[in-house]
Amino acid sequence: MKLHEYQAKSLLKKFGVPVQDGVAIKIAGDFDNAVSQLREKGINQFVVKSQIHAGGRGKGKVFNKSNREELIVDGGVKFFGANVDGAREYAHKILNNILVTHQTGPDGKEVQTLFVAEGLDYKKELYLSILLDRSVSKNVIMASTEGGVEIEKVAAETPEKIIKVWVEPSVGFQAFQGRELAFGLNLEGNAFKDFQKFITALYKAFEELDASMVEVNPMVITNDDKIVALDAKVTIDDNALFRHKDFEDLRDLNEEDPLEIEASKSNLNYIKLDGNVGCMVNGAVLAMATMDIIKLAGGAPANFLD
Ligand code: ADP
Ligand code: MG
Repeated sequence: MKLHEYQAKSLLKKFGVPVQDGVAIKIAGDFDNAVSQLREKGINQFVVKSQIHAGGRGKGKVFNKSNREELIVDGGVKFFGANVDGAREYAHKILNNILVTHQTGPDGKEVQTLFVAEGLDYKKELYLSILLDRSVSKNVIMASTEGGVEIEKVAAETPEKIIKVWVEPSVGFQAFQGRELAFGLNLEGNAFKDFQKFITALYKAFEELDASMVEVNPMVITNDDKIVALDAKVTIDDNALFRHKDFEDLRDLNEEDPLEIEASKSNLNYIKLDGNVGCMVNGAVLAMATMDIIKLAGGAPANFLD
């Protein structure tokens, strides 16, 4: 189950991962109220962030929902500093319109929630993620000095810039691994120390939330040398959801395909694709092979179904 950034940040905060305060709104009329709430916490710089289940929002484009040809604004995430009027206008423009990013596909996703949050000044963007490396049955922590950009691109073009540390399940995450990552990220002084706390908290969160992925891109070094999560993507392992009954409220059915919701009610592994040959297959591997054969024959599968 994918979470929105604002949900991920509120969970990570409980584990001591430093994140920005913010307020999620579903109607533009709530914008001023959100800003007042943040002002009460002493916040005076703001960022407005579309909440969709896809990355690349910053570099995405927002199109008019009723006229998909009309580009409304560039960027699904914008930093406004102290310019509240600009932020309000932007919030009104993008809410309930369609955000297209490199991860949404051309259809894009409707922006139904905005996260109005503290805007930060920082000096460096880094990349950090934790996920399961199935090839070795261990969790892997990946870090890179190339933060803020698509990690797929870094992996393809400069793979040496991605540092990987595998956690031995019998002993768990170790302090020396935190140092190894910090050295790899060229951290120094307070940022080096702060990162040890950051990664320890993030790893604990990853385990206790039963996450299948936690990605912080960018993780930033602030002007006063603190390490902070500026973005947070968390996916919870569906097989562990029974252990987290309270997460049911976090599921956003608006973000899911109606056919996939229907299939999940029957415990079917179903993924909608955009081809036109329906596949009803018994077993995931056979399903994959069937899809390959359809492709090879010049067709396009309409779905994956196990
Ligand atoms: P996405 O990965 O979907 O593009 P991010 O949350 O990473 O979304 O935001 C994109 C960019 O917007 C960041 O790389 C950063 O430059 C800027 N940004 C995001 N959040 C903040 C913030 N709280 N303060 C200042 N800038 C921000
Ligand atoms: Mg990001």
